[in-house]
Amino acid sequence: MKKENLKIICDQIAACKSCKLHETRNKTVPGEGDVNAKVMLIGEGPGAEEDQEGRPFVGRAGKLLEKILNSAGFKREDVFITNIVKCRPPNNRNPEQKEMKACSKFIDAQIAIINPKIIVTVGSISTKALISDLIGSDGITKLRGRIFDWRGIKVVPILHPSYLLRNPSVEEGKPKWHTWKDMLMIKELINKP
Ligand code: SF4
Repeated sequence: MKKENLKIICDQIAACKSCKLHETRNKTVPGEGDVNAKVMLIGEGPGAEEDQEGRPFVGRAGKLLEKILNSAGFKREDVFITNIVKCRPPNNRNPEQKEMKACSKFIDAQIAIINPKIIVTVGSISTKALISDLIGSDGITKLRGRIFDWRGIKVVPILHPSYLLRNPSVEEGKPKWHTWKDMLMIKELINKP
């Protein structure tokens, strides 16, 4: 039933013209992964490669995210990966508030159907979009690795892989190391009651 319900959302996204991003998109990027995933990753929006392929996190940043997932013991196909907005903002600009608001019905529906134990918000935009009421004015470097309780689901923000591409050091205390540690912590969190 979950699969069928997600397909309905997917079809609605494909036909959606609720914000101006539909004018410039090539393909909609609804998200993909295990419908019974315990972990759902949410980024901000599709980039150029994602817009071409209709799949989330397939560009350079996505490949790095997948590597980090794997090194922490996750397989990409065992999680569900999506974005706050399902169409690419032109020139990779940040999605606007009204675009995120127009698209929120889809992420809300996907979360309700999948009902994950943990949501990982990838980067500052999706973190703010989802849990703005809980985070005050802190930036992503202060929010990452913290656990927030949102509608009965644990939400853990992590740094965006695009940021990690610009900060490639794997030394202890550097952004990449923190992200790997955050993913290990998330892995442990799955098995906790
Ligand atoms: S970004 Fe979301 S709300 Fe805007 S057109 Fe695409 S699917 Fe519809």
